[in-house]
Amino acid sequence: MDSLRKPIVTGNWKMHLTIGEAEALVQALKPQCEIDAGEVVLCPPFTALAPVGRLLRGSRMSLGAQDLFWEPRGAFTGEVAPPMLVDVGCRYVLVGHSERRTVFGETDEMVHRKLLAALTHGLTPILCIGETLAEREADQTVAVLARQLSAALNGCESRDYPRLIVAYEPIWAIGTGRNATPEQAQEAHRFIREWLTKRCGAQAAESIRIQYGGSVNGANAAELLRQADVDGALVGGASLKAEAFSAIVKAAVAAKAVHSP
Ligand code: PEP
Repeated sequence: MDSLRKPIVTGNWKMHLTIGEAEALVQALKPQCEIDAGEVVLCPPFTALAPVGRLLRGSRMSLGAQDLFWEPRGAFTGEVAPPMLVDVGCRYVLVGHSERRTVFGETDEMVHRKLLAALTHGLTPILCIGETLAEREADQTVAVLARQLSAALNGCESRDYPRLIVAYEPIWAIGTGRNATPEQAQEAHRFIREWLTKRCGAQAAESIRIQYGGSVNGANAAELLRQADVDGALVGGASLKAEAFSAIVKAAVAAKAVHSP
């Protein structure tokens, strides 16, 4: 079943890189990350979306945004609307990244509205969910994941699910250098797939890609991505370095080839 899911690796550049630096990184990635066997998505900061989008025209890599607002236009100073992201060439958008939730106070309800807005405007949402260290230590991991999934996907219809990507990102692993073990990642991904199976049926759930995020690098990617329900990676720090990000992309493709018939 898992061989049906094309691996997907997303680079979240966060609040890094000027336009010139972003362009240089794309040029360095191109020879290594133009692949058919997997999908590669680059999420630059808003200021670099247009120039990176221009460089990605005709490329097999895709453009994604790190966030969006749910309204299509209006007096919302500082926000970016879904049609603006479509206009600049985005196909993907991160929704509910833990830094949005913890630093900027995004609630489950706000994440839900953003996810629906992405779907409405034809963007593929990468829904980020994950527990804090305290929640994991209190044995709350699956309860937190279930709550975040349930809130975000409230009102989604069966036609929406095949377009969804979920990113499991334990907060204690993001930017800390401490990644989840492959077993911890697989356990959480398995739970997410089972939850999705109950929500939208086995066929749709088997086609939804679930990325792991949290201190993925060239050295640990292969083992994480060999897990049956880990379909790709959402990469922060290592996505800013062409060598490291390319190594993760290659590891993803190699790991999933092992699962193919
Ligand atoms: C992220 O920002 O989604 C992330 C996983 O960051 P890092 O790879 O740096 O842990």
